[in-house]
Amino acid sequence: MLVSSFWCTELGMDLSEAGLEPSPAAMRELIAQVADRVIAYYGSLENQRASDTEGAAEVAGLVVEALPEKGQPYESLLELIFSRLISKGFNTNAPGSFSYINGGALFHCAIADLITAVTNPYVGYWGASPGMAQVEDTVIRWFADMIGWPADAGGVLLSGGSLANLSALIAARKALLGDDFGLGTLYASDQVHHSINKAAMLAGFPEDALRLIPSDGAFRLRIDALTERVAEDRKAGRRPFLVIGTAGTTNSGAVDDLQRLGSFASANELWFHVDAAYGGFFALTERGRAVLQGIELADTVVLDPHKSLFTPFGTGCLLARDVRKLQSAHQLHSDYIDAAVDLGIEANAVSFADLSPELSRGMRGLRIWLPMKLLGAGAFRRALDEKLDLAAMAAEKIATMPGFVLVAAPELSTLAFRAHEAGLSGPELDRLNVEVLDRLNRRGRVHLSASLMHDRYTLRICVLSLRSHAAALATCLEELSVCRHP
Ligand SMILES: *Cc1c(COP(=O)(O)O)cnc(C)c1O
Repeated sequence: MLVSSFWCTELGMDLSEAGLEPSPAAMRELIAQVADRVIAYYGSLENQRASDTEGAAEVAGLVVEALPEKGQPYESLLELIFSRLISKGFNTNAPGSFSYINGGALFHCAIADLITAVTNPYVGYWGASPGMAQVEDTVIRWFADMIGWPADAGGVLLSGGSLANLSALIAARKALLGDDFGLGTLYASDQVHHSINKAAMLAGFPEDALRLIPSDGAFRLRIDALTERVAEDRKAGRRPFLVIGTAGTTNSGAVDDLQRLGSFASANELWFHVDAAYGGFFALTERGRAVLQGIELADTVVLDPHKSLFTPFGTGCLLARDVRKLQSAHQLHSDYIDAAVDLGIEANAVSFADLSPELSRGMRGLRIWLPMKLLGAGAFRRALDEKLDLAAMAAEKIATMPGFVLVAAPELSTLAFRAHEAGLSGPELDRLNVEVLDRLNRRGRVHLSASLMHDRYTLRICVLSLRSHAAALATCLEELSVCRHP
């Protein structure tokens, strides 16, 4: 299926011969063959299934093996990866990927990753690679500007929202509770992402320390219930320290009233954290900015570029309005590092290793910086606006589609709905929805997901993938109709 690249002259060369350090010709060949595969891959994305799980276990079995002592032909390895392994499972890059919150990976990020993987800069301490560390810090600065934060704001790029939530929670714990935090309590709505539960667990809190506050009819945290709970806890001798607002819930994309939550937190001397892993980058758009109003009141904010900024997985971000608070929760000194990073350079930036648990890690900033510089923020703003438009259109259509009811209209680009039929009991309706989803995902043209919302099985569409345009959404609605009335 593949033609070799026109600029490769040494077909059939033995790429394992040179060992760990390939010749320039071998490098060309390594890149050329992948370039062909990658371009063919992108070319076929439009027609790729959004999910394909048939025979997936057998395919996975192809790579269960002991460590090979000798090398194997490159082409056969690429064939295995591109033709067998990649196609199984959920296709996060497909236009029909409407299930989970992921943006599909932007090609330019892969180029940035190639550069950082080749040059291997160490950005943990500013002085070790000032230029590249500054690239990452500039990206952080762009994000802080987007939120509307002052110069002493800062942050760090992490592997994802989960790690970012953990570090935020620990910073809050450290600042407000100190070492003896056994009685501490934190608050979030019953729609909160489970990475917050996990962060609380990892940070050493017993399970009941996280108080799940009921959400209202629009799935937003009920501030009246929060007020009551905090007062009750105080009275009982507990130590409330942290309120978490979600800017884009996983179930329905609901955005808590950040303005009021922020005021509440401030009046009650609580740390205010906003989990904007999904919704944060909609702040680049006018509509998103309006919905996210109040996010600037947060002490810490989590963003996930690998969701609403279309970067590949492994790109999360934690921002702090006062970066020193993040630093005091994560900074330690050691003789070997203090000596090693003192290069005599006047560092005016904070070092990332002092803001998170990570010391050695890959550079993440270039995969944001390069596309932003190359394409401009406008390209991202337009893509996000498109997702908002498509979600609004989907909600409008579903509200009038026979056999469906809309459960949550999109505040951002996610909507929740159910298959409905008059006269069916709750459990019967749940079963109907399970069946519709199962049928639809088996067909694989589009991929959707479901969740329990206020105890009812609910379907959801998340329009966030880079390549989900109007045609993919039309297919999605068509598939829903077909699977509802088979
Ligand atoms: C995805 C998500 C997370 C978890 O982030 P990961 O990048 O998957 O670790 C946390 N909170 C919200 C609201 C999310 O959407």
